[in-house]
Amino acid sequence: MSDAATSAGANLRIFSGIQPTGAKHLGNLIGAIRHYVEGQDRGDAIYCLVDLHAITVAYDPNELRRQVHDTSAILLAAGLDPQRIILFRQSDVSEHATLCWLLASATSYGELNRMTQFKEKSEQQKAFVSAGLFFYPVLQAADILAYQTDEVPVGEDQKQHIELARNVAERFNARYGEVFTVPNHRISEVGARILDLQDADKKMSTTGGSHLGTVYILDPPDAIARKFKSAVTDSGREIVRAHDKRGIANLIEIMAVAQGIRPEDVEREYANEPGYARFKEDVGAAVADYLRPISERYEAIRPDTSQLEAILAEGAGKARAIAAKTVGTAADRMGLGPGSGSR
Ligand code: ATP
Ligand code: MG
Repeated sequence: MSDAATSAGANLRIFSGIQPTGAKHLGNLIGAIRHYVEGQDRGDAIYCLVDLHAITVAYDPNELRRQVHDTSAILLAAGLDPQRIILFRQSDVSEHATLCWLLASATSYGELNRMTQFKEKSEQQKAFVSAGLFFYPVLQAADILAYQTDEVPVGEDQKQHIELARNVAERFNARYGEVFTVPNHRISEVGARILDLQDADKKMSTTGGSHLGTVYILDPPDAIARKFKSAVTDSGREIVRAHDKRGIANLIEIMAVAQGIRPEDVEREYANEPGYARFKEDVGAAVADYLRPISERYEAIRPDTSQLEAILAEGAGKARAIAAKTVGTAADRMGLGPGSGSR
């Protein structure tokens, strides 16, 4: 873990966003969601269903609202407690879009052009690449900076975007005076980049991965077993993490997280194993055990859509109060509106 902010105590502000696109997967859980849960004990945590980000690629408007509910229920099932955190839908708090525009003036075209996620995702969009997809990191900076965030728990793939948010905050502060807290990312050492089980050159992904290579949080145990059994590895036999054994290294990290132990403990346990077959089966079984309680809680939580909406509405009210203050200060410093002196 990057630990710059861990000593700041109870008022540490933690923020992260998750896309309500499709079913969330094991990479989301290991790289992000489990750290959201842990964040509840470490500071004031705010988590956002980023539906405004989801509309930057092709999507179905008839599905989006339902998917916000699905993803909210997954987060609650994974252990988020709405009494202790703020959970809300991005589009309910219009300050995010406003702040995005204000920050755009302190973001350079060249910076956005260097974002690797845009390059990857724009290649996946055959018919139409939206300007929104190019602007995605500015909106993400607004999400984070609106809450004076100290720490952003994310997977490795988001590192470049958080660095952009830091640069934008620093540039804005230098130009207009101190307005924004400069955030740090929090990326775990183990499980920060869970790989597609069918293609170790790709991360497991909501939108870009293979079906057999993606383990969904709500997959039934037999599907989980099948996916791990057919995981692509290498022609060797040793169960160790090595540069040329990315598939096996991925399975070792997944096994470690599922069992709550260290990757080196997994390697030790399988040191005398003559091949990969039993190990793959064991990882599948361990992951099924790890996911089962989440699936069970999900089944109980998901049907009550009005309760989910009530949680999101309460969260939006609290989020708006914080974000409006930041956006008001930013706009005022930028010379927009009548100005605080004349009010
Ligand atoms: P997409 O691939 O369409 O961007 P996604 O799978 O990355 O979708 P997001 O909602 O964008 O899903 O990401 C939510 C969080 O999960 C982010 O913090 C992201 O860094 C993390 N994450 C996503 N994929 C992985 C992965 N394979 N391993 C670890 N963390 C991941
Ligand atoms: Mg993503």
